[in-house]
Amino acid sequence: MQSIEIRCKNCGKKLLKYEKRSTRKYKSPVKKCKKCGTRYADPRCCEMAIEGIPEDTFYIPSYVIFMIIGALILYRGIHLFSVHQIGTPDEIQWLLPSFFTLIGIVIVIGSIVEIIAIKSGLKAKKYEKLRKESEERLSDKSYVYILQDLGYKVPEKYL
Ligand SMILES: [Zn+2]
Repeated sequence: MQSIEIRCKNCGKKLLKYEKRSTRKYKSPVKKCKKCGTRYADPRCCEMAIEGIPEDTFYIPSYVIFMIIGALILYRGIHLFSVHQIGTPDEIQWLLPSFFTLIGIVIVIGSIVEIIAIKSGLKAKKYEKLRKESEERLSDKSYVYILQDLGYKVPEKYL
């Protein structure tokens, strides 16, 4: 995986290092260098009121697909317990099947939790709260200027 590193423009201190495909966070992207206080933007964070959310956030079928993938991994893991893996010492024969089983269970449970959260409206509530927090930050003009200064395109209604 490709990792991204961000350094302070002013003092060169390493600020962030993360994997390219890390998940988005819905909070203020504005941060400060701990060493010199220069502001910078964390690309993993975004203002929901400006950038919105991915279209499939509340799309149940994509979580059903995750669940099926998880179930297949789980099935594979359980199946592997009865297979002797060539080239693997006896003491660690359990390792690979356990790994698959565990990952499968985590994906299945995670998907079910997401589906329940969407169905019950809990997820919508959580996102609505995050959107309101974003709107609140953007109602502060000085914050909007800071965002613009860091290269954000802020819609006119916040200016
Ligand atoms: Zn700095």
